Amino acid sequence: MSNDIQSTNFWWVNQGQTYADELRLGVLWAPIATSEGRRFGHWDALDEASIGDLVFHYANGYLRAISVVQLSSRPAKTPFDNRPWDDAGREVRTTYFELDVPIPLASIPESVRLAKSYAGSPFDRNGDVKQGYFFGLSGRDGMELLEHLGLDDVSTDVTGSDSATVDVRLLGDGPTDATRIRKIRLEQRAIRLLLLKGSLQSECAICGETYPSNLLAAAHIKPRYACSESERRDLAVIMAACLFGCDALYEGGLIHVDSMGLVQQTRGSTTTAPVSSRIGAIAGRQVSAYSQKSAKYFAWHRTHVAGVK
Ligand SMILES: [Zn+2]
Repeated sequence: MSNDIQSTNFWWVNQGQTYADELRLGVLWAPIATSEGRRFGHWDALDEASIGDLVFHYANGYLRAISVVQLSSRPAKTPFDNRPWDDAGREVRTTYFELDVPIPLASIPESVRLAKSYAGSPFDRNGDVKQGYFFGLSGRDGMELLEHLGLDDVSTDVTGSDSATVDVRLLGDGPTDATRIRKIRLEQRAIRLLLLKGSLQSECAICGETYPSNLLAAAHIKPRYACSESERRDLAVIMAACLFGCDALYEGGLIHVDSMGLVQQTRGSTTTAPVSSRIGAIAGRQVSAYSQKSAKYFAWHRTHVAGVK
């Protein structure tokens, strides 16, 4: 499976002040145009990102995270307050893997940055990071950058059969803690969504219907922002939820999963007839992602998101 990485596109994003918000939301967001109607290639480029692509996240002098695109661009209003641009934009959903130690840009040799200065690249003729948001990198440059960051072995390995898991390894073997080994295990269903470019289908954990993976989200059972570091690495915290309602209904707390693992409508949630009808169709279903391991995550969601006492 290690070859998958070679068909992956690489991107570089400059996030500055918006890094924290975008990280928390698991998104990348860019406006369509300035308030004067001006468009920029480094904003439009976000529409080119596709499922499974790898993104380098840079903010305030440091490379801070790598992410894997989960859902390609779709129209979305700005998630930020008080920003000097138009509300209308697009977002890409992406799964962030924060580096244990942020890596200073200066640790990437100037020669490497200079070699990667070309039209559309993230670096200028001085080897500095260009002004702008989202930039493409060639496959070779992406791999080279990973190498220089001590993250050169990014691979996926399928192990086991029944309860197969996939490892995404970002391995480093340098002398500093900036390159300490980081290993992330993800549930196979989630990693399929993330890495296999929508070529496979999967079952929605909530409604049980089968959808192509580009119509499924790798949803956090307990919201990622509320997870501890070890919970974030727990396979059981992720489930595949379809975009035909289950993902949004669950995330918004309109439905929750009871202590028997059954879908329940959250009482008192404001809704309309089509939503009620959709919830009616799934209420009482046994959720396939419910297990001894995931029960505590569903319980957290039930109490804190759905407000069930
Ligand atoms: Zn569903």
